[in-house]
Amino acid sequence: MSAATVENLVIIGSGPAGWSAATYAARAQLQPLVYEGAISEKNRMAGTLPLGQLALTSEVENYAGFPHGNLGGFLDSALPKERRMMMAPHEGQGVTGPELMELMRQQALNFGTRIITDDILKVDFSKRPFTLFPAEGGEVKAKCVIVATGASANWLGLPSEERFKNRGVSACAVCDGALPRFRNKPLVVVGGGDSAVEEATYLAKFASTVHLVHRRDALRASKIMAQRAFDDPKITIHFNTALAEVLGDDTNGVTGVRLESTTAGGSATTLDVAGVFLAIGHTPNTAFLDGQLELTPKKYIVWKKHFRTETSVEGVFAAGDVADDYYRQAISAAGTGCMSALDAERWLAHGHG
Ligand code: NAP
Repeated sequence: MSAATVENLVIIGSGPAGWSAATYAARAQLQPLVYEGAISEKNRMAGTLPLGQLALTSEVENYAGFPHGNLGGFLDSALPKERRMMMAPHEGQGVTGPELMELMRQQALNFGTRIITDDILKVDFSKRPFTLFPAEGGEVKAKCVIVATGASANWLGLPSEERFKNRGVSACAVCDGALPRFRNKPLVVVGGGDSAVEEATYLAKFASTVHLVHRRDALRASKIMAQRAFDDPKITIHFNTALAEVLGDDTNGVTGVRLESTTAGGSATTLDVAGVFLAIGHTPNTAFLDGQLELTPKKYIVWKKHFRTETSVEGVFAAGDVADDYYRQAISAAGTGCMSALDAERWLAHGHG
């Protein structure tokens, strides 16, 4: 990108919010440029690879417009061969997260979106045009920016969890659950929300048993998801229980866990397991903004007007999970992505930037 070029609109992020924003902006002839993130080991470990959190999930049952049906032929016709070949073959009846994301990316591309597979590490929103600093060097100038960088998985912060990351400890069952080290072995999932239940249900297909460990006496997950966990004979739920330590050694990686009761007078137990999957919520990816946009105490970007995607800096808009600690659904992210593109288009049309 030449330093002299000033982009109309740069979109940072490549989940449902980023691609919806790009599709709307491209159709409005804003020639959007998307920084979709870098394909790097650092991003893999942090869960921030291109295509967002949906690319880390299995079947998606609740995205409007995608009921059960055989999508194989549609995927073949909609996606270019080289990207289709990189994907897992279509199985089951519903669309998967990675498939949905590839389709969204392709839709944005079809209308002329330009895509760069790199991270934006730093921004300067103090003067116009704004300046963005990609990891691969140089700088990009933009009249208008949409931040759609999503959120990434939380960790407990135990030293033993850190020690066994990639050797039996993971925050993504769908990415790692089918690995041989976990097959037909007992596993632990920590958390009580939809992600934890989804991961436990997914892992139960491969594991001998899944222990779902939750710190309270009731699941936070939606009723339909929670019922699946209760009904699955391979899932045992341990309420009022916390993961105190991951046990293991350098040769085998994870071999067990030490669990502690969260209620007074409760006891500690150990379980022999081959894997530990964390599903304890997410943190918005806002660190790279370095305080230049107003954030909530939980570090989500603040929308300054009711039901508008405007941030504290005029000309910078936010969409998706990076600005939403409440709904956090793929479809709501896509919806706010659309809103951010319309907000950006109107702002530019008024001669701003
Ligand atoms: P979440 O709803 O925030 O749940 C996080 C879970 O982790 C909670 O049960 C929480 O316990 C527990 N937790 C948090 N910090 C912990 C800690 N330090 N130690 C132990 N446990 C801890 O997050 P999520 O499950 O990732 O879901 C995020 C959003 O995505 C939700 O809106 C959810 O509906 C959505 N989602 C939907 C689907 C679907 O519909 N298929 C699938 C996945 C996610 P407490 O309950 O005690 O707070």
